[in-house]
Amino acid sequence: MRTNGKGNGMTHLPDFSRRTALAYLGAGASLMSARGCLTQPRFTESPFTLGVAAGDPTSTGLVIWTRLALAPLEPNNGLSAARIPVRWEVGSDANFNDVVRSGEAVAERQWGYSVHVEVEALQPGRPYYYRFASGGQTSPTGRAKTAPPIDAPLDRVRMAMAGCQKFSEGYYTAHRELAKEDLDFIFFYGDYIYEARTPPEDWEHPNPDSPQAIGRVHLGSECLNLAEYRQRYSQYTMDADLQASRASAAWFVTYDDHEINNNWTGRKPAYEAAKGLARRAAAMQAWYEFMPVRKSVRPQGSAVPLYRRAVYGDLVDLNLLDTRQFRTEQPCGTAIYCEDVDSPDADVLGKAQETWLFNALNNSKAQWKVLAQQVVMMDIDRDKSPGYLVASDSWAGYRVPRSRLLSYIKDREMSDVVVLTGDVHRHLAGELYVDGRNPEGPPVATEFVGTSISSGGNGSDLNGRNRRMLEANPQLRFVNGQRGYAVCEITPERWKTDFKVLDKVSDPNGTMSTRSSLAVATGDARIVSS
Ligand code: FE
Ligand code: CA
Repeated sequence: MRTNGKGNGMTHLPDFSRRTALAYLGAGASLMSARGCLTQPRFTESPFTLGVAAGDPTSTGLVIWTRLALAPLEPNNGLSAARIPVRWEVGSDANFNDVVRSGEAVAERQWGYSVHVEVEALQPGRPYYYRFASGGQTSPTGRAKTAPPIDAPLDRVRMAMAGCQKFSEGYYTAHRELAKEDLDFIFFYGDYIYEARTPPEDWEHPNPDSPQAIGRVHLGSECLNLAEYRQRYSQYTMDADLQASRASAAWFVTYDDHEINNNWTGRKPAYEAAKGLARRAAAMQAWYEFMPVRKSVRPQGSAVPLYRRAVYGDLVDLNLLDTRQFRTEQPCGTAIYCEDVDSPDADVLGKAQETWLFNALNNSKAQWKVLAQQVVMMDIDRDKSPGYLVASDSWAGYRVPRSRLLSYIKDREMSDVVVLTGDVHRHLAGELYVDGRNPEGPPVATEFVGTSISSGGNGSDLNGRNRRMLEANPQLRFVNGQRGYAVCEITPERWKTDFKVLDKVSDPNGTMSTRSSLAVATGDARIVSS
């Protein structure tokens, strides 16, 4: 049996302890009177089939998450009560000898029986352990660290970046490996699910580049409504390796396009039809239900207040961006260059988020200012010939807002700005210039792009297409087309990124290695090998 990284095997204890059982009675009674009927079923099987997770740590707290599901692929998770009480506890040790916080939450049918507890009054910069219990069953144990004291001197942050986990294209071996890393946090940029149906095997025009069938297919058809999105999230989240990685460290989560629809942008006029908004609201609700995020990020209809900031001492400001919701439509389809890439009306972040980000950069006291986001910021030429072609779903398709952001950083002589990105199912490392075709002076910032967990199948280290991309783009320093994730070791002197790759994801026994380690020193955005 595969290790799930949770350690203590206490999955069927009748209760946490006598002390918490007494607290349970007290809390239950007050909830009864204040909020109406709670039903406590007795569970003969574990309702914690989707595991546990934690996220959005601050120096004083974090979110812990679970979701009750006896039958996760069924409507209403195989449960019937409208509201089910769930006990939770947070300990300073894996055996819960020292429980520092505990309480009761309510899993509500209308939120898919998800539980998001915002635990407060914790100590900064240390690991905590957490678990849930309901109806005589106890969840697996999760572990997550709080953030260090704000503005305090900090000598090291170790984080990972991951995303793009198409279930039907590869096993989650990268998650199994992620769970073994000792991380302060994981930035999960998005594509947690893919909304499409898996094409049938007798698909008339098979793509010769598509990954080999691995025997994992999406259940159901393309996700369009809440029930379908929930089932897709459940199918993905039932994976033991994914559960291990979610239970191993705090996640900072954003979405990319496939949580909603391929290449989705919020300001695509044709998409703003009533049907589109209903689909988006369903997609956003399912995303929220499954993610360890705070209530401040909960969708309001089809809108999600996603962008936010986390602070790690005086070392790292993590600006979590939303490059989908406020973005204008791609200028000219995808992967095509046209004059519209110079449109002055184009937007990636939207006015409010852009102003928020500029102020955050301007006011930052941190050594490293991180833009944790979704789509590639380098203006990479993807043309095989001397011509110039950009992927118009990337920042390069939005030259005016891209130039506005990079010029803002350059004009104020800000240093140590690092952009973290996903989306393209490749590891990339490169340097950011206002105009990458005509670089002037030193680079403005550095970009590290993390490859996919599974999307794209096994891939290859450097195929012909990737080699041509490397040759045509001097600002691009590294390309790899395999699966994995990136680990960043951040100190006051330098930022080092280890690009981890798997030899294969077509079966569950892939082997992980570090393909390349690249670094930037404080005060110099140029990439050097480490
Ligand atoms: Fe993806
Ligand atoms: Ca895409």
